[in-house]
Amino acid sequence: MTEPTHKKQFSLRTAVMLPFIAVLLVTLSIVFYTQNNSYEKLVGDVSEKVLASYTQNTHADLNIFLNAPNFAVKSMVNQIQRYQMYHPNDTKQLQQFLKDSLEGIYTGLEQMDVLSFGGEKKEYIGFRREPNASLSLMLQDKRTNDDLIIYRGSEMSDNIRTVIANYDPRSRPWYKPAATTFKPSWSKIYTNADEKKEITISTMHPVFYDEDFIGVFAADVKLDSFNKFLSQETKHTKGVIYLIDDQQRLIAHSSVGSVLSIGTQNSPVGSRLFAVESCDETIQQSATYIKNNQLINNKNNDAEVFSFYYKGERYFSQITPYIDGNNLNWYIVISISESDLLGHLQEEQRRGLFFGIVLAAIGLIVGVYLVTQVTKPIFTTANAARNIASGNWNNNVEAQGSIYETTLLMNAFNDMTNKLQSSFDAMRQQITFDSLTQVLSRQGLIEQCRIMLDKKEHYEQGLLVIGINNFRDINDSFGILEGDQLLKNISDRLQCSFAHDNIAIARVGGDEFALFFSKLDDVEQLKQYARDMEGCFMTPFRVASNNSLLSISTGLVYGDLSCDSMTLWLRNASIALGQAKKNNLNMSLYTPEMAEASLHKANMTAELSLAIKNKELVPFYQPIIDIKSGKTIGAEALIRWLSPQRGMVSPLDFIPLAEENGMIIPMGSQVLTQACLDTVERIDQGLWPADFHMHVNLSVCQLTQNNFLDELKAVLHNTSMAPENLTLEITESRLVNHDNSTINTMQKIRDLGVQIAIDDFGTGYSSLAYIHKLPFDVLKVDRSFIKDLTAENIDSSIAAAVCNMTQGFDITLVAEGIETQEQAKLLASLNYHHAQGFLYSRPIPLEDWPTE
Ligand code: C2E
Ligand code: CA
Ligand code: CA
Repeated sequence: MTEPTHKKQFSLRTAVMLPFIAVLLVTLSIVFYTQNNSYEKLVGDVSEKVLASYTQNTHADLNIFLNAPNFAVKSMVNQIQRYQMYHPNDTKQLQQFLKDSLEGIYTGLEQMDVLSFGGEKKEYIGFRREPNASLSLMLQDKRTNDDLIIYRGSEMSDNIRTVIANYDPRSRPWYKPAATTFKPSWSKIYTNADEKKEITISTMHPVFYDEDFIGVFAADVKLDSFNKFLSQETKHTKGVIYLIDDQQRLIAHSSVGSVLSIGTQNSPVGSRLFAVESCDETIQQSATYIKNNQLINNKNNDAEVFSFYYKGERYFSQITPYIDGNNLNWYIVISISESDLLGHLQEEQRRGLFFGIVLAAIGLIVGVYLVTQVTKPIFTTANAARNIASGNWNNNVEAQGSIYETTLLMNAFNDMTNKLQSSFDAMRQQITFDSLTQVLSRQGLIEQCRIMLDKKEHYEQGLLVIGINNFRDINDSFGILEGDQLLKNISDRLQCSFAHDNIAIARVGGDEFALFFSKLDDVEQLKQYARDMEGCFMTPFRVASNNSLLSISTGLVYGDLSCDSMTLWLRNASIALGQAKKNNLNMSLYTPEMAEASLHKANMTAELSLAIKNKELVPFYQPIIDIKSGKTIGAEALIRWLSPQRGMVSPLDFIPLAEENGMIIPMGSQVLTQACLDTVERIDQGLWPADFHMHVNLSVCQLTQNNFLDELKAVLHNTSMAPENLTLEITESRLVNHDNSTINTMQKIRDLGVQIAIDDFGTGYSSLAYIHKLPFDVLKVDRSFIKDLTAENIDSSIAAAVCNMTQGFDITLVAEGIETQEQAKLLASLNYHHAQGFLYSRPIPLEDWPTE
């Protein structure tokens, strides 16, 4: 079976689905990419704008938040100076002024917690706002005996909260810088000296009467108020806002909790936290980023935008310096998470993408399902076709699916398969059975015997091939119809006698039957079967209303078929059958030598036919001697095969074969022509006498040819050979079945003037009795009668008998195979005329023939 090709193969489904999936993936990734890109751009834009606007708002609000107390202080100091409200050691007027201010125009200025005045004479007057918006008076002058007393309420009373002794306002952080620089400014962040110990920052202003410095006026802004303020900022905006100083300590933040660490027993007020220590994680993370990237104290004092990831969320941040003319150097930091910034946009976008992917997946599954529906029947059909190609016929496919074209395809395929199968079956029937006799055909036997071999148990097998002798004659005499009827009768008898599972009956040739036995124990069993089979032919067959007995020959093969093929066995049986016919035997068991001989014969035949074409067959010549004079009176042409492969081959090795297959005819004619040419040439050259006798051997096959006489005449004519110079030798033994036409031809040859010699006389059936019937001129007595000739046995020898018998005939007696001088003498004494033998010369090529 041929595989489609060696190129890479895709299944139909892949071929359809692959581009589909590729387009889907590309689309998805493009959508994902553009969406992501535009989202990023959006986030960048929005975050920048939002952060900038937050910062701006915060900046502005912070300005207001801080400037308001600033202005308030400035305006109050103005009034104090103008109306000279302060009198050393008497703060009564100031007290009223401050109280009125806080309860009056500055009620709304909530971030302003405390208003204080510290005089050069160590006196102090201040008001503090309490959480319930009431005021607490804080006073130190001669009325309080120079102690700082903090009252409950805004008037001096017995209701005292705290008394702080030895309080010196002049050493406080809200006093000292103004007393040294004489300029208004913001204080450092410090802890209040009262019992609340709050962290605060003050805006302070020096107070002068004309040119004289008399004290410092200050307003406190509690950092707590900052926190409140910042958390109000983020109410609408989300995210965190915090303020840090250049130490990166927290000043305030929008989240809950303190900007101080938890106090200890020794110092109940904790220290200020660094931003990175904040309990708000967002602040902590952004402060860490700021710290690591040294975003504080950068030279250009610009706003810096940055973002960081924390717990899988992105935070957009901005740090902006906040610088106040009154020496504040702070930073506003804003951090806002992506989800706060854009709400659910990202989530929605992800959800959209997710739905897109889910939709694509569903589309893909549906696509695969549909493609499978379409391709499955095609695939099934293709598979079935492939199975059929490899010889498996049971492959009807079930029409599946609801697609018109594929159902059509599968139905058509089934029809085709069924039709193919039935014609295939019919063909097999024709091939495996003989249509005339209904037994197995030759091919059928070859296939059947394989099935019959028992794989489990070991048995030997046997084959009989039965040839009907002279069946052709029956066909010729009674007609083909009678012949066919006879063959049917024979097969009926065989089927009757050999109906068994272990026996197969076949007709393997026109007039040949075969019996195959699959389970045999020994060769004797096969021979017994052969004899049984012969029994079938013992009773006559009815042919053309006659009873006729048939003669058969049988070739037997025995052995283990599993090591051979039936084809070989049939050939071997045929060789054995041929052997039986040749040797006139009833049966012959095949032996390997038979095959060798037949193989050798086949090779020889092929080579010999080439040899004739290539003129490799040449005559050697052996002289014939006149016994009395010892002179050469003639020669015998003896054929030699000068084969390039085999060297010189003796005629004994190929003449019988050539006679069998008819090659002797062209071969003989070649020798005859050559011998005539050589004789004429030699006589013309004067090397041989004019009456030289050239003997040429003639096979009976040549003699019985229809046109032999014409051919002989043509050769004589073409070579200008005188008929008197030619003697044709015919072997006596081959003339046994002589009929009149042969004898006629022999006579006609003699009539031409050519002589006839009877060769090898004495070896054949022919008795001396009928020798007189043959027309001949020369009698050549066979070498076997000369061989053992001695002086003692000469009188009783056949050589002598032949001599006596032919005494009265006008014939020439030739003795063959003379090897010794003694034999020559004895034959001379018997009055033999001519002699031939190694004593005189072996057969030699013409070139070696002596010229003298
Ligand atoms: P043949 O016609 O009887 O030839 C004589 C054979 O005896 C020759 O063998 C020859 O070499 C051999 N011979 C001759 N003198 C002696 C001897 O003193 N001692 C012994 N042992 N043998 C001797 P060769 O040449 O092998 O021929 C064998 C046979 O082949 C011939 O027997 C003949 O029947 C046949 N033959 C040879 N050439 C032809 C031919 O051209 N045509 C035909 N049809 N048959 C031929
Ligand atoms: Ca001869
Ligand atoms: Ca001879």
